[in-house]
Amino acid sequence: MSEQEGLTVKKSKDFSEWYSQIIQKAELGDIRYNIKGFIVNRPWATMLMNNMYKLYEDELQKNGHLPVLFPTLIPASNLKQEEEHFKGFSAEVFWVTEGGSDYKKFEEKYALRPTSETAMYPMYALWIRSHRDLPLKLYQRCQVFRYESKMTRAFLRGREFWWIESHNAFTTREQAENQVLEDMRMSEDVMHQKFGIPFIFFNRPAWDKFPGAVYTYAADSLMPNGKITQQPSTHLLGQNFSKRLGIEFGDESGKKDFVWQTCYGPSIWRMVGSIIGLHGDDKGLILPPEISPYQIVIIPILTNKDKGKILSSAKKLFSKLKKSGFRVFLDERDFYSPGWKFNEWELKGVPLRVEIGPKDIQRKHVVFVRRDTGEKKFVTDRSLITSARKSLSDIQKSIVKRADNYFNDKMFVANNLKELSSNLKSGGFVQVPFCSVDLDGEGCAEKLKNDFAGVEVRGTRVDVKEKPKSSDKCVVCNRSAKVLVYVGKSY
Ligand SMILES: [Zn+2]
Repeated sequence: MSEQEGLTVKKSKDFSEWYSQIIQKAELGDIRYNIKGFIVNRPWATMLMNNMYKLYEDELQKNGHLPVLFPTLIPASNLKQEEEHFKGFSAEVFWVTEGGSDYKKFEEKYALRPTSETAMYPMYALWIRSHRDLPLKLYQRCQVFRYESKMTRAFLRGREFWWIESHNAFTTREQAENQVLEDMRMSEDVMHQKFGIPFIFFNRPAWDKFPGAVYTYAADSLMPNGKITQQPSTHLLGQNFSKRLGIEFGDESGKKDFVWQTCYGPSIWRMVGSIIGLHGDDKGLILPPEISPYQIVIIPILTNKDKGKILSSAKKLFSKLKKSGFRVFLDERDFYSPGWKFNEWELKGVPLRVEIGPKDIQRKHVVFVRRDTGEKKFVTDRSLITSARKSLSDIQKSIVKRADNYFNDKMFVANNLKELSSNLKSGGFVQVPFCSVDLDGEGCAEKLKNDFAGVEVRGTRVDVKEKPKSSDKCVVCNRSAKVLVYVGKSY
């Protein structure tokens, strides 16, 4: 199964190398596929993503969103219908221009979807006639393609990645704005509580909002090196798309109006990147029990004398746990030593290891070992199920808490460039007074980016209303500050 030994570098010493080794050694992905920026997601990552998709889709469906699957190709003419949107994406589009053995050129070029607004909304225009057809709340789970010019990184930045995109249409602005709030709640309930990824939603500055949106709320998380990773964003599209594409409905009196729209895009693939980075340690991955492909791995301590007896006890243990609904794996390979298997499953981040050997059978107990803390305990046969449930729930909570503590320790405040410069050394977010998040402030954001090697203005907080003091000055231009923004270095 595994080709090599464990990690040879410490996470705190060289995070980038640690991250690369874990992708390869925990068999998450293979970057050797021969197209730049495209990787193979191996079974361990695919099983993990399937569990993540399941939780996200359950939550979407619970909130009234229905699944749909649209074609991967989008005609260029569709993309061009919304000018601002097209301008924002044109540099990142892969085009399909010919087909067949004679490489016949198509009359029109087709984009590999970078996102699906312009595939879906012309169909919305056909489907929506009356207020009775609304709200329309659809999502699809699919991969999207971006012609990335920046360096790609497995599970963080790729030319192909896996996500969910949710596209919604309503009769009023208020309903659409409520959808944005619901998207933020779903991010909290799934991404934070189940995947253990802490974040803050920022209202992105005008120059950084989604092309074609009225506003963009984007969730920023952090990696252990203090760099920001953008996680899902939710956008109020207003009537920008519906006016261009003619998505109209008649109200009760038959009066026509354009629908109000939102979209939301959680990238499951990129969340895997955050999970690897935030939770893992020097031994490998640490996966939250809610999503780990296996929650429990049983390792029989086989001796020549008692092999048959131990294996049969281990199998009983397996079926008992399986029947109670745990995702459990029995590692009965006899060509590897127990120690080798311990390392392997620690590398892969399985939350709970159960060991069973000859002495344990005699004493009617098994040994539980927690992946996150290494803590060992004896569990009697009778309390097996309740103990397993309790241990997994404790592990889940402590993984979330540990990530939260790290995240909360990386919030800083600076009032001038000198303080900013010293705060930036620790990574994370720095709150600074700033002149404006309208286009007016873009120059200051550019200057900051140039002077501080890539530091970006991430926006104002959505969850807390924060105002600068009347004496506060923009850290860049020294004009009177209108907003408090958060800045930091991102992936
Ligand atoms: Zn300024």
